Amino acid sequence: MSTIFDRILDGEIPCHKVYEDEHVLAFLDVGPLSPGHTLVIPKERKAHLHELSDEAAAAIGRVLPRLARAVLSATGATAYNVLQNNGSEAHQAVFHVHFHIIPKGSDGGLGIDWPARSLAAEDAAPMVEAIRRALAAES
Ligand code: AMP
Repeated sequence: MSTIFDRILDGEIPCHKVYEDEHVLAFLDVGPLSPGHTLVIPKERKAHLHELSDEAAAAIGRVLPRLARAVLSATGATAYNVLQNNGSEAHQAVFHVHFHIIPKGSDGGLGIDWPARSLAAEDAAPMVEAIRRALAAES
């Protein structure tokens, strides 16, 4: 299904572009939580992070720190969040992978509810085992 970001990639609608290379496009979020709020998207058309190819993921990883430095430099912020939502329950609204770079400071930013629990040893061991098994099945 085509998303608004696919339409931006196809040049059907404009964006406030700050960066582009063969695999990645970055542009300002039209509903910023703070000045400089930037979205970084792969050109690969996948809804969720876990669906990305290694090549697209590596291309994003290569430029994220550089883009974060540029956003900090442009805004004067010294703190920021990188947010990446997957699934509507996790607040994803546009189903094309995107990373938010959100400066945090007196001019706004991301508010986070962080209802932390305590990790019990009897829960950790089987979880580690299950994740390791899943990783092993991938290779
Ligand atoms: P998410 O909740 O992680 O899916 O965030 C989607 C983000 O895309 C929101 O912060 C929107 O403000 C932003 N957004 C939606 N349409 C556009 C657009 N045409 N150009 C730039 N940002 C957009």
